[in-house]
Amino acid sequence: MTPDVSTEAPTEKTAKRKKAKRAKPAPAPKQASPFAGLTKTECAKGCSVDGCVVSGKPYCSHPAKGGLQAGDLGNREVVERFQQAVKYLKRQALA
Ligand SMILES: [Zn+2]
Repeated sequence: MTPDVSTEAPTEKTAKRKKAKRAKPAPAPKQASPFAGLTKTECAKGCSVDGCVVSGKPYCSHPAKGGLQAGDLGNREVVERFQQAVKYLKRQALA
């Protein structure tokens, strides 16, 4: 015989603590922006030959250096990031 008694057992699942931690190479002090270091003429610090922080591709798409390649103009994610970079530079110009 099983007593049908519902005890007040907490059903919290504390074991599931998933914190997605992405490896960040540079411990940026204040600027958490991926465009940190980006200026009108210079690429962001996170830019390298392997990937531009703006395009995410192995070519530089700095707004002042030619921008995006035609093949990426249809890539919404890339275009959005490019526009964010442009905004970032505009804000910088105002500061
Ligand atoms: Zn770049």
